[in-house]
Amino acid sequence: MARFCPLFSGSSGNCLFVGGSGGNILIDVGVNARAVERALNQIGVEPSTIEAIFVTHEHTDHIAGLPVFAARYGIIVYTSKGTLDYLEEKGYLRPQFDARVIGEKGVEVAGMQVMPFKTSHDSRESLGFRIHTPDDRKIAVATDLGRMTQEVRDGLTGCDLVMLESNHDVRMLENSSYPYYLKKRIMSDVGHLSNDDCAAEICRLAALGSARFVLAHLSLENNHPALAFQSALCALTQMGFKEGVDFELSVAPRQYPEKVTVF
Ligand SMILES: [Zn+2]
Ligand SMILES: [Zn+2]
Repeated sequence: MARFCPLFSGSSGNCLFVGGSGGNILIDVGVNARAVERALNQIGVEPSTIEAIFVTHEHTDHIAGLPVFAARYGIIVYTSKGTLDYLEEKGYLRPQFDARVIGEKGVEVAGMQVMPFKTSHDSRESLGFRIHTPDDRKIAVATDLGRMTQEVRDGLTGCDLVMLESNHDVRMLENSSYPYYLKKRIMSDVGHLSNDDCAAEICRLAALGSARFVLAHLSLENNHPALAFQSALCALTQMGFKEGVDFELSVAPRQYPEKVTVF
């Protein structure tokens, strides 16, 4: 059994809950500690049962609540060397929690094997994670990436559930009031993944057997949940896959959990 629940997703804050028969973990704490506590309570999880926090990268929407939450519950934090250096430089580390570098081979925590993979993003050393639960469920999470790389593909391939960034609709972004440099940054190889790129990757994964997809880190200004959903749905349908039969598709809510996926 695995339990998966995006608590917060998007540029206003990210936090993801993953539970297995051996324990619970979080990926990123990008909203304040109280909000995370409320969200966890909403899905019936005691914050004190979180055994580790895995941090993708140092952008505020991924670490804003990290020092307070990790210190309050004495939770061990794992991240890349680059992100850890940043956290140390900026005074995010506290004596109340242990922060460690996750090596290439990953770590085993809460009965889960958590493997990092590098993502292409404008940060020190951003990561995605592939999680193998004790009951042989595989979950992959990749947000904040400008493009798909072979390393990310390897991390996602063969997972039962994949949460992938579906950040923006290219036309909405092109026509938005964002300044040129920001549009360029988002569309660059170290920016964010578009709906089209996400849909194409999901099709590839579906053809290889993945069946649960969660679209994440949607832009508030340059996307709509329905648009991201439709773009992935159309692509999958065109490939001959049927929703509810061959795959399940959902959009991670911006704020507060909507449902826990148990599989
Ligand atoms: Zn982000
Ligand atoms: Zn970022």
